[in-house]
Amino acid sequence: MLNIIEEIIFNFSNNKSLYIGEELTMSEHMIQTAMLAEKNKCSDDLICSSLLHDYGHFVLEKPNQLVNDNIDGNHEMIGANYLKKYFSNIIIEPILLHVDAKKYLARNKKYFDDLSEASKTSLKLQGGIMNENEAKQFEKKKNYKNAIKLRKFDEGAKKQNIKIKDIKDYKELLISKIIKMLLNCVSSMKVLKSKILR
Ligand code: FE
Repeated sequence: MLNIIEEIIFNFSNNKSLYIGEELTMSEHMIQTAMLAEKNKCSDDLICSSLLHDYGHFVLEKPNQLVNDNIDGNHEMIGANYLKKYFSNIIIEPILLHVDAKKYLARNKKYFDDLSEASKTSLKLQGGIMNENEAKQFEKKKNYKNAIKLRKFDEGAKKQNIKIKDIKDYKELLISKIIKMLLNCVSSMKVLKSKILR
């Protein structure tokens, strides 16, 4: 189970692909997103979601190629599905919803105008701006507010030449979240066992 930590650290350290259409790497972008969550005094869970929000790009092959071919790779779903074996829902939900959060926020003209060109292009591929009904449905989703926070950090995490942390600085946080997930699994199994034996 803890091998995932080594895998995350390996991917962040070795994957040098650029964040789609931007001048920084995917790893730098995700670390900057987590740093913004820390700066804004978010919970450890949301810092963890922020750090891993684009992990689906590491799982997907050739994300840049997908954009060039006008295909949406559904990186949020791929990342969330991959990581949900190791991290609890409170961490996974904002990852899963961070693309919907962009579609939701883009209803605001200023937010839309401030998006980078790459982000505007991917917005189109992801289905475009939400209509009122879609926005209402989005607001019913658990943890959507954290997805919106994450999205705002995401947009701000595209700076170049700033001092950023190392993925290893987040190792302890990642381990603590995986251990929490394991303990939750153990306690649910105990409850199940006691029900069966009753
Ligand atoms: Fe991102």
